[in-house]
Amino acid sequence: MVEIRSVRKRFGALEVLKGVSLDVPEGGVVCVVGPSGSGKSTLLRCVNRLETIDAGRIRVDGELIGFEERDGRLHHLPPARLNRQRQNIGMVFQRFHLFPHRTALENVMEGPLVVGGVPREEARRQAEELLDRVGMSDRAGHYPAQLSGGQQQRVAIARSLAMRPKVMLFDEPTSALDPELVQEVLAVMRDLAASGMTMMVVTHEMGFAREVGDHLVFIDDGVIVEQGDPREVLADPRNERFRAFLGRVL
Ligand code: ADP
Ligand code: MG
Repeated sequence: MVEIRSVRKRFGALEVLKGVSLDVPEGGVVCVVGPSGSGKSTLLRCVNRLETIDAGRIRVDGELIGFEERDGRLHHLPPARLNRQRQNIGMVFQRFHLFPHRTALENVMEGPLVVGGVPREEARRQAEELLDRVGMSDRAGHYPAQLSGGQQQRVAIARSLAMRPKVMLFDEPTSALDPELVQEVLAVMRDLAASGMTMMVVTHEMGFAREVGDHLVFIDDGVIVEQGDPREVLADPRNERFRAFLGRVL
């Protein structure tokens, strides 16, 4: 579903991704871990084209992201087609980014209504279903400020799902939460994985990576230095820096 090939990305003199290749099969859950500043967020942002890449290729469901091949050359996609590609790719951030003046239900309805052209009643019905799925039915009429961080993050997940993405990207979705709210968000993500969603998850939650992940990637300084079955690599980490990292987060 996601094919990342030899991707390079630099910000000025700083090369942040130094040739990253990674596959996420349909229905697969890949967890990405690594120290702060190693390029995890940049990698996710390249997949949904919030960042352009300097070299390499990214495909989602076979479709080249950000470019089209014409006359044997690559051309940047025009913004309208970029936006259409992005709709296939849901993203959940550390901070929830809900619209503060809309209720939970209205937040989930917004995308399909405004971007997707879905009729209001249909958008409402779908939004109610999605809020139910993330355990937020009883808070549908609440505004973000009236919700806990964990509840807001669950609404943010429902809002992403409303666009019916082919893949969901999560960038440290629980790192901004109070410890007692982490599990309710991870539980929603676990259900989503079990439902067959293709997911890329940047996280420091090693328990989640071990139990839910199909594949674990350790990225350090823009390079994937260790990867494999999460249970295996966590039980027997080879790379020295991966060991040091695990020593800090476990
Ligand atoms: P991580 O998510 O692993 O903590 P990031 O992908 O956010 O790391 O950042 C990797 C490196 O790229 C960091 O050194 C960060 O400061 C730098 N960086 C990220 N975004 C930008 C940007 N827009 N402009 C300049 N430098 C950036
Ligand atoms: Mg980050």
